[in-house]
Amino acid sequence: MFKNIEKIRQLLSQNYPKVNVELVERAYNFAEMAHQDNKRFSGEPQINHSVNTALHLAEWKLPINFVVAGLLHDVPEYTKYTIADIETNFSRDVAKMVEGEMKLDSLRYRGEKKYAENLRQMFISVADDVRIIFIKFADRIDNLKSLSFLPENKQKRLAIESLEIYAPIANRLGMDVIRQQLEDLSFKYVYPEDYEKTLNLVKNVYATKEGYLEKIRKIVSKDLVKGGIRVAEIHSRKKGLYGVYKKLAARNWNPNNIYDIFASRIIVESESDCYSALGILHHRWKPVKGRIKDYISQPKPNGYQSLHTTVFCEDGKTVEFQIRTKTMHEEDEYGLASHWFYREQGEGQENKKKHIAWLREFSKIQKEIKEKTKFFENIDSLKTDIFQKRIFVFTPKGDIINLPENATPVDFAYAIHTELGHKYARAKVNDELVSDDYKLLSGDKVEIIIERSRKKPDPAWLKSIKTRKARMMIKEKI
Ligand code: MN
Repeated sequence: MFKNIEKIRQLLSQNYPKVNVELVERAYNFAEMAHQDNKRFSGEPQINHSVNTALHLAEWKLPINFVVAGLLHDVPEYTKYTIADIETNFSRDVAKMVEGEMKLDSLRYRGEKKYAENLRQMFISVADDVRIIFIKFADRIDNLKSLSFLPENKQKRLAIESLEIYAPIANRLGMDVIRQQLEDLSFKYVYPEDYEKTLNLVKNVYATKEGYLEKIRKIVSKDLVKGGIRVAEIHSRKKGLYGVYKKLAARNWNPNNIYDIFASRIIVESESDCYSALGILHHRWKPVKGRIKDYISQPKPNGYQSLHTTVFCEDGKTVEFQIRTKTMHEEDEYGLASHWFYREQGEGQENKKKHIAWLREFSKIQKEIKEKTKFFENIDSLKTDIFQKRIFVFTPKGDIINLPENATPVDFAYAIHTELGHKYARAKVNDELVSDDYKLLSGDKVEIIIERSRKKPDPAWLKSIKTRKARMMIKEKI
């Protein structure tokens, strides 16, 4: 087995040929000294977790300071050394990242009621310095890998949070590799039965398709070379189990209705090679109608670019092909992270252009994250059992109130304050007057108009309210 430091050295020499490893080794030694005999839940030394976190950051080819921060990320929380010690021994920049990660880490789950608030705070922290989300992703992926050692309630919380919050953010930032790892590691803890069901259904597909695609790869490779395409690589990619599950659930649980459980990926040198390769494929095999997608001229909202086509391949089986350039491929796998990498790789004209484009995209994402803190549109994607029957609405000041589904403005008033309920006269939802039995929806902004002279609540409210609190208070008063 490799020693920790050997693993780090090896990955650095592979992914960071120009970087001086001395800084990273110093960080490793500091972390090891600081954590001493600290152990994880699994009984493993704590330092292994720091190393795994740093290794993920290095796999994603982020700037070297991320790797350093990854090694040190748990030092202030679990040892006697502080953020200030890290600043003195390393740099302000590294200390800032560690501090941001620690703050994010302290947003512990405080029960369902505080959930939305946590989420909001998280968006704010990330908007403040988007870099910490990468450290958090790396940290979380390693924690998910040792989830089986945690108590059951903790398992479920971490898994839900990873699946419902972290993975969608990774998706939004266009980091496919990270999204898929977060999803697949949490899936079995969040939906154990669906996980088993999905696994059983696709087992056969996995077993048969891999060999078949190898056969196809050889044919394609020959055709492309003959056609003068500069091919960098052809490989098959397996769709993540959670991604398969979502499609299965939407398509009668029939794996034959899903074309991309496996896809064949063709990576070429230039954009025009992409289109030529598509032509060559269609010349040999007939495309399936409606399955040709040009995400190169029309990228997905998260920036994803590729040509997709599904063809009736050898033996009449369907195969999805994804054709892209090397750059598109890197960006698909690592999204924003890949841009950071280019930025460190030198100052060529091409890199400069990319960096500017990236800065623009980055500020757009920041703005969107900030907007989410206000409107919380994302909340609709919270489809897990625990949250399914809850809605999140806003006070005029932007505070979030968590209510059961179909709750009314009266429930809202009582949730804020008993007196506000008792004096309730009317309500405005999104600035428009609504009836007392109006069913609130997630994201609604609710304003209560009171009647100071009101002595008693209206018994009619009892017919439509949903919360126990409002019911108790009204009954007590009438
Ligand atoms: Mn950690």
